[in-house]
Amino acid sequence: MERVFNFSAGPSQLPLEVLEQAQQDLLCYPGAGCSVMEMSHRSGSFEEIIHNTEATLRRLMDIPEDYAVLFMQGGASLQFSAVAMNLAKQGQTTNYAITGQFAGKALEEGKRWTNAKAITSSKADTFSYIPKITPALIDPDAAYLHITGNNTIFGTCYNTLPDTGDVPLVADWSSAILGKQIDVKRHGIIYAGVQKNMGPAGMAVVIIRKDLLKREVDPIVPAMMRYKLMADNGSMYNTPPCFTIYMTGLVGQWVEKQGGIAAMEQRNAEKAGILYDTIEQSQLFHNPVAKEDRSIMNETFTLPTEEETKAFLKMAEGRGMINLKGHRSVGGCRASIYNGMPKEGIEALAQCMKDFENGLRK
Ligand SMILES: *Cc1c(COP(=O)(O)O)cnc(C)c1O
Repeated sequence: MERVFNFSAGPSQLPLEVLEQAQQDLLCYPGAGCSVMEMSHRSGSFEEIIHNTEATLRRLMDIPEDYAVLFMQGGASLQFSAVAMNLAKQGQTTNYAITGQFAGKALEEGKRWTNAKAITSSKADTFSYIPKITPALIDPDAAYLHITGNNTIFGTCYNTLPDTGDVPLVADWSSAILGKQIDVKRHGIIYAGVQKNMGPAGMAVVIIRKDLLKREVDPIVPAMMRYKLMADNGSMYNTPPCFTIYMTGLVGQWVEKQGGIAAMEQRNAEKAGILYDTIEQSQLFHNPVAKEDRSIMNETFTLPTEEETKAFLKMAEGRGMINLKGHRSVGGCRASIYNGMPKEGIEALAQCMKDFENGLRK
């Protein structure tokens, strides 16, 4: 069977070169005599792997020295809770901008621990735009302001960051990290589940300004959720997700070979532009997102009827393009076009859309 173009939102298509490198190392990692899945996380080989993965991310994202990089389990979803429990005292005010389903879930977790307030929301317009956050909206005593940088389900993105003054900005960049330039210095915390754009499932990367590690943490907070404990132990308080850390390193090295994040962003914008242009020129396909808030990583689009949507998805699948169905909560279609999706995949999809509109059904 041939490899298809996989438009899944995550886990998602990885660069072929990365998979080939992993295949080459699979049975016997150079110098280790065993695979990464079998080696001790305390071995010299793994020490080197985790060090290289962190160093690669630091180079790529230009992460300053006063930020720690943590590898944690539980996905981006556990960070919804960890952020609150590490940065805020119980009952303290925290602020959230609601721009989609994941932002809503982050708020729900925030509410378990803090006085979490939604300071703005685009829910009434089915999350089709990013509401502006002005300083007046932010509670000056909030422990942090949480945003979802790129909204995976609705295809919107903070293309400019809000000014939060002295309140630390916490951002979930799961679906855009390494795909577009993100100014780390503007954030208190960036976190991201790696399965969207950085590797296979199984962990989240947390980039945290070191002064935030000094905030007092309630004794009830579990060890595995404590940022300072993770930082003090080099993300190896317990057995880390070794293979995912290794794969994330390979993806990072691949991005470096492509010219880094700036080059990647340019390519992703070009890829996204091909699809947005196709949609704009179409009478059949429609994208509801405000132009200035468009994501270059996830593009949503609809057809007039359920039957046409089904027929289009079937035709695309017949041409080797899978997982174009929109999120189960919103329907329609969605193309997730992360770093691993080559331009050929986008061109094939655009052609399929044009052919469908012209009456072809396969
Ligand atoms: C996928 C996703 C999540 C959830 O990630 P998990 O790793 O499955 O917990 C959270 N936020 C955003 C923006 C996502 O795209």
